[in-house]
Amino acid sequence: MMEFLLKKKNFGVWLESSLDGMAITDIKGKILFSNPALEKLFGYAREELAELTVEDLMPERFRGRHREERAGYAEHPRSRPMGEGLDLFGLRKDGTEFPADISLILLEAEQGRFVLATVHDISRRKLAEKALANQTVRLRAILETAVDAIIVIDERGLIETFNPAAERMFGYTEAEVKGQSITLLMPSPYRDEHNAYIARYLRTGERRVIGIGREVLGLRRDGSTFPIELTVAETPLGNHRLFTGIIRDVTERRKAQEQQAALLEQLTEKNAELERFIYTASHDLKSPLITIQGFSGMLEQSATRGDFERMRGDIRRIRAAASRMQTLLEDLLELSRIGRVANPPEKVSMRALVHEAVELVRDRLSGRKLRTEISRGLPDAVGDPKRIFEVWLNLIENAVKFMGDQDEPLIEIGAEAREGEIVYFVRDNGIGIEPSYHTKIFGLFERLDPNTEGTGIGLAIVKRIVEVHGGSLWVDSEGQGLGCTFYFSLRDPA
Ligand code: ADP
Repeated sequence: MMEFLLKKKNFGVWLESSLDGMAITDIKGKILFSNPALEKLFGYAREELAELTVEDLMPERFRGRHREERAGYAEHPRSRPMGEGLDLFGLRKDGTEFPADISLILLEAEQGRFVLATVHDISRRKLAEKALANQTVRLRAILETAVDAIIVIDERGLIETFNPAAERMFGYTEAEVKGQSITLLMPSPYRDEHNAYIARYLRTGERRVIGIGREVLGLRRDGSTFPIELTVAETPLGNHRLFTGIIRDVTERRKAQEQQAALLEQLTEKNAELERFIYTASHDLKSPLITIQGFSGMLEQSATRGDFERMRGDIRRIRAAASRMQTLLEDLLELSRIGRVANPPEKVSMRALVHEAVELVRDRLSGRKLRTEISRGLPDAVGDPKRIFEVWLNLIENAVKFMGDQDEPLIEIGAEAREGEIVYFVRDNGIGIEPSYHTKIFGLFERLDPNTEGTGIGLAIVKRIVEVHGGSLWVDSEGQGLGCTFYFSLRDPA
């Protein structure tokens, strides 16, 4: 019955060889002709197809709708794609389905109206679409969860993508910056450099990434800047290209690096100090040892001679040297402990500590009366009370010890507030210190007059304590005979 059609203009040849499945049906959908591609697509033999209607080739769920449409179609036949706006599926003989594009072409002939249905298997396209959608979802997930800011700009430097990390980092929302120039996020001079760069790039295609080998800064919405690390990738896209910038806020890293450098410097300094310390300590400990060695030899000789008087003297010298060594060792031990054993800081009443220390030394000036002037408004400090007491005691003891033959010994104690810290002082009118010794006296075992008692460790200990508390210690004196003032600063707890 279809022969008249198939003969027409090689129509039959074309149908037979088409890669799409094709069927000619009557207006009710009964299959009158099918091509090999259709057989292959649905898994039926030609004879089998001849027994079917198009409804047999579609999944159950589409049949109702198809029937309705066909009723309308019979009244107003026209060529059209089928199932507009729907995802259509073909139903194979084995019950499996495949996605398809189907179009219907109305064939009008003397013999009646027929429909040419073309079935195009779109499984591959669907798979590709799904893969693409998957890919997009994955890329989105990366964009959304990245800790680094990811910003995509076009060739003109206009922002296309601005991920949540970028929003957090720069303080703008994606909607606010989309279509804006990337220079919005750059402080000058990078901004001007960037503009020049883009202009040159557009003109010549020459690329030069900004900021290699030097610090690059980002500019937040609030106007503040922060150090960033920037990687730029270029993506060719047809005849234009995109630039993807991955930006990391390196504020924390910079801080850590600076801290590390400062620590390293401190450590190096401490090491050098320790070396000096060991050198002087061993040197100073040696001298009483030599005394002991010397006098034990003498003791032996005195014993041989039976000279008891000399023996007693020798023993006294040996004892004195041993006890000096003991004092030295104890002081050294004390010094080594300061940095380690720290009691938790607490509020310290400086007034109380000063009065206590003054009472301890008041009677040491035989015969002369010590006058003290202690400022009333001595501010409290925060720190380790025991250690801070040692500071006062050492300084006040020294003031008394180095009073010389001053007839009216006077010690003044006070404080003054400076920016963020309080500077306390102990001033005496004693023997004073030559300016050239003003640093030296804080070193270990440094004594200006070897004939006064002491180990030369006192001020080193005071210095350590003050430094452990975050302050510093220094001296001021016009010179010999002119008295001196020791100052130490502590953080202002207020
Ligand atoms: P010591 O424990 O032997 O007293 P310090 O370290 O306390 O040693 O002091 C070091 C040296 O600094 C003292 O030997 C002295 O020469 C000098 N010195 C310290 N305080 C005073 C002061 N108030 N007046 C003059 N010289 C001082």
